[in-house]
Amino acid sequence: MKVTLISYTKECEKLIAVAAKQTITQKEFSESWNEMKEDEKKEWLKETMSRGHTSPWEHCTYTFLIEDVSRVLTHQLVRHRLASYSQLSQRYKRIKEIENYYVIPKSILKKGDKALEKYINSIKKSFEEYQELINMGMPPEDARYVLPQAVKTKIVVTMNARELLNFFGLRMCMKAQWEIRALAWNIYYIVKSIHPDLWKFVGPRCLQLENMARMKPIELEELLKNDNINLIIEKCPEGVARENIKLCVRTALNDIREFLESANPNNGENKI
Ligand SMILES: Cc1cc2nc3c(=O)[nH]c(=O)nc-3n(C[C@H](O)[C@H](O)[C@H](O)COP(=O)(O)OP(=O)(O)OC[C@H]3O[C@@H](n4cnc5c(N)ncnc54)[C@H](O)[C@@H]3O)c2cc1C
Repeated sequence: MKVTLISYTKECEKLIAVAAKQTITQKEFSESWNEMKEDEKKEWLKETMSRGHTSPWEHCTYTFLIEDVSRVLTHQLVRHRLASYSQLSQRYKRIKEIENYYVIPKSILKKGDKALEKYINSIKKSFEEYQELINMGMPPEDARYVLPQAVKTKIVVTMNARELLNFFGLRMCMKAQWEIRALAWNIYYIVKSIHPDLWKFVGPRCLQLENMARMKPIELEELLKNDNINLIIEKCPEGVARENIKLCVRTALNDIREFLESANPNNGENKI
């Protein structure tokens, strides 16, 4: 998995704060913009998040290039309808080589050599059939029906911050499958590194629900590291009881930690 931030709204945090403030002031936008101090900006970001008044978050967008992920992942990803996508075509782009072009789930590796051999053989067999069908004159768009879902792909994705909030809530959660969960945590750490005040209170749905319920929101890092944090929600939307939520969130991250550093060298930001 490789995740690269291609472009984003640079003044995202201030834009959201000033846009939110526009809803209650007669002042010119430029006046509010020039007057907006750091503390006030942080307050607006916290308020909009904790009250669920997140339409101002839509003014801010991020575009990512996501590579070396399976078609299983992208099938799940494109269910998030409010994002924009451009994916490598299997109709117009024939797959020429399968070596290193498929994803291997950790559960296969854990099962040992026999399972891995079976898995790889199955993929190679499908690929051979694919090539044979093309050699017989079948167009790649039809021959691809025999390809496995493990085949790698790349996709460009643009999400606004409100859509990302929803995406993180669902896909950073332990209930999400490991591959899309690894993608969600990767994207989270990238956007948090450039806009920390916007994203620090955000995480899986349990944290978002908790932060809508309490007077003073807690940061995701506190939930991950501070054993003394007491949550107030009785259960998360997935039914995990209060006393198990911290462990659940920590497991959701630890389980995919190996994908974090390898996935976004240079902090994920495109240096070109
Ligand atoms: C753990 C997990 C398991 C899943 N299992 C399955 C499964 O077994 N089968 C399956 O089919 N899917 C499954 N999904 C996919 C899931 O049902 C959603 O399609 C997916 O998570 C996208 O979420 P979304 O609709 O909130 O996102 P988006 O499409 O990005 O929508 C964002 C928000 O906009 C609003 N919205 C968007 N479109 C509409 C609309 N047409 N009408 C009303 N409101 C709208 C909703 O409030 C929505 O939450 C699963 C998802 C998760 C996280």
